[in-house]
Amino acid sequence: ASQDVASTVVEALDLIHDVLLERQDELGRLDSIAGDGDHGIGMSRGSTAGVEAARAVAAKGAGALTTLAAAGAAWSEQAGGTSGALWGAALTAFGSVLGDQEGCRPGLVVEAAAASLDAVKRLGGAQRGDKTMIDAMEPFVETLRGSAADLPTAWGAAVLAAEAGARSTADIVARLGRSRPLGEKSLGTPDPGAISFVDVVRAVGSVIG
Ligand code: ADP
Ligand code: MG
Ligand code: MG
Repeated sequence: ASQDVASTVVEALDLIHDVLLERQDELGRLDSIAGDGDHGIGMSRGSTAGVEAARAVAAKGAGALTTLAAAGAAWSEQAGGTSGALWGAALTAFGSVLGDQEGCRPGLVVEAAAASLDAVKRLGGAQRGDKTMIDAMEPFVETLRGSAADLPTAWGAAVLAAEAGARSTADIVARLGRSRPLGEKSLGTPDPGAISFVDVVRAVGSVIG
């Protein structure tokens, strides 16, 4: 039934929520170096609201599209901040590709990840090299798309590519977002949103496959 995909989505959001609560202090610390320090609390609030909203609609029989749209709206509303709006758009775009129908072939997950990247780029206007979550997300999607392996293997390789991308943001001076006025201070520290993206996709890896 269509609830099968939705229940996997809820399971994934639950794992995302667990890891983001665990990482709250470290993400806040990273954001405090050149930003306003609220990335940990924002991701924690957003994922709490997101999984709660998803669970509520999935329990009523909603499919993945409806479940992720509810999660995205709640995440965006409760997180506040730039990353909250971007994660809201990413989750909604992911769901719009999965659809509300029954079942989900592996290729659809790859297309959904690509749609999330497009949504974040469209809404935020950032490109690779701007020291944002795009520096982790784009290599993640490129690796996922380029892999001929089965989905769990491809996902694992994509997580490694995201990690390398996130790490590389330490060498960039921030030009966008709240950390822009303090851009120089960001040199030597990775972008908090790129780091939390890796936390999220690594957590999701355990429900893939
Ligand atoms: P805020 O900057 O509003 O305080 P957060 O601290 O939660 O929001 O999120 C900051 C993160 O959001 C950054 O580390 C970066 O990864 C991401 N970000 C900021 N602006 C953009 C943008 N225009 N495009 C993509 N990601 C962005
Ligand atoms: Mg912030
Ligand atoms: Mg803020």
